[in-house]
Amino acid sequence: MKIKINDIPEEGLDLEFSENLAELNVEHEQLEKLKEVTANIHIQKEDFGFFAFGEINVDWDLICNRCLIPFPQTAKIEFSREYRLIEEDIADEKIEEDILSAVLIKNEEIDLENEIKEDLLLAIPIKILCKAECKGICPNCGQNLNVKKCSCVQEETDIRWEALKEIKNKLEKTKQNKTKKIN
Ligand SMILES: [Zn+2]
Ligand SMILES: [Zn+2]
Repeated sequence: MKIKINDIPEEGLDLEFSENLAELNVEHEQLEKLKEVTANIHIQKEDFGFFAFGEINVDWDLICNRCLIPFPQTAKIEFSREYRLIEEDIADEKIEEDILSAVLIKNEEIDLENEIKEDLLLAIPIKILCKAECKGICPNCGQNLNVKKCSCVQEETDIRWEALKEIKNKLEKTKQNKTKKIN
């Protein structure tokens, strides 16, 4: 993903990446597998250096936050970056503030790899669910509750039913007592 600055013509350069990107070493605890990444990026000359923009399409297996099972997902990411050419004698504070958000390039090439990796990582949601109604796993026994209920959950349910039964019994006793009194 390295582009020699001298190879960028006045009208800019259209780049298409696919194969190289699938080998990107992107690591994230919610990312199980990067299956396919393609990017279409245009680089153009600017006063400050270069501006690159385009789209990254990704096909990956992400890990569900609740059930911890990987599931396939695709994402479309808008890409844009400023690449500022800096010279050795850069000293002006104003310029330094201005270039904080930009990628600084000193040498003769632009390497898009880091920025593409950065955007891929940012595209992984903080909360990922395989489906909105994912039941997750039992914190007790680790059973995937989407597949089947575990006995821990049943016990919990039983406790609730027990409480209801008690109330019901009490009500019935009260009724019986009232009935007895009438009799
Ligand atoms: Zn899930
Ligand atoms: Zn359980």
